[in-house]
Amino acid sequence: MNLESMRNKDELLEMLWRLHEFYELTVPALQQHDPTGVYKGYLREFASNGILRLEGEAIILTPEGMEKARGLVRRHRLAERLIVDVLGKSPEETETSACEFEHILAPELVEAICTLLGHPRFCPHGIPIPEGACCLEAKKSVESAVIPLTQLAKGQEARIVFLNTHETSRLQKLLHIGLVPGATLCVQQHYPALVIQVDNSQIALEQSIGEEIRVIPLGNGATTSPLHS
Ligand SMILES: [Zn+2]
Ligand SMILES: [Zn+2]
Repeated sequence: MNLESMRNKDELLEMLWRLHEFYELTVPALQQHDPTGVYKGYLREFASNGILRLEGEAIILTPEGMEKARGLVRRHRLAERLIVDVLGKSPEETETSACEFEHILAPELVEAICTLLGHPRFCPHGIPIPEGACCLEAKKSVESAVIPLTQLAKGQEARIVFLNTHETSRLQKLLHIGLVPGATLCVQQHYPALVIQVDNSQIALEQSIGEEIRVIPLGNGATTSPLHS
C-alpha cells in the first residue's frame, strides 16, 4: 500500500468520525464534505475490510472502524495541543503539521504525549479529544486527590496541579497573574466573591475560573465543603 493511499484512507476515516460527531454519517453528507470525491472511492474497500457497512445512504462504522477513527482523531487533536502548548504556535498554525503527526505517532508515544500534556480534554479549537487508556488511569489515580479550587476549605494551602481550561486567552491571563502549575495558594474567602492569596497578593476570581483551577491540598488541613468556611 503506498503512502498516499494510506493517508487518504486515514483522512477519510477522520472525516467519517467528524461527520459522526457533528453531523450525520451518510453518503450525501460525505459528498458534501469531500467535493473532489477522492475519499468516496475507498468506501467499498472499507466495507469489504470490515471498517464500515453501507445501508442505503447510511454509513455505519463497525466497532473496529470506530476504534480506528477514534484513535486517528485522538492523535490529531493531541498533536494540535502539543504544537500549541509546547511549541507555542497559534491554533491556526497547527493544521498541516498535526496532519503529518497523526500518521506517524506510535501508540506508546501518543500515551506519553497525552500524559506529558496532562491528559487534555479539548484541542486548541475547543473540540473534545477522545480519551485514551492513559486518561482513564490518570482519573482513577489522581482525581481523588486533585480537586477544584472552589472545594478548598478556607485557609487550606494547596498547590496548583493543572488548569483545566481550553480557552487560550483565559489560560494566558491565569498564567500572567502567577496562577501556574506548581504555585501554592490558599483560599481566603468563598463568598460573596472567591478570593485567594498567592504569595503576598490577594486575587478575586470568578467562580467559574475557580472551578477550572485544579489543586492538591497540602499539609493536613481539612478539605471540607466551602459551605462550612
Ligand atoms: Zn482542533
Ligand atoms: Zn491521557
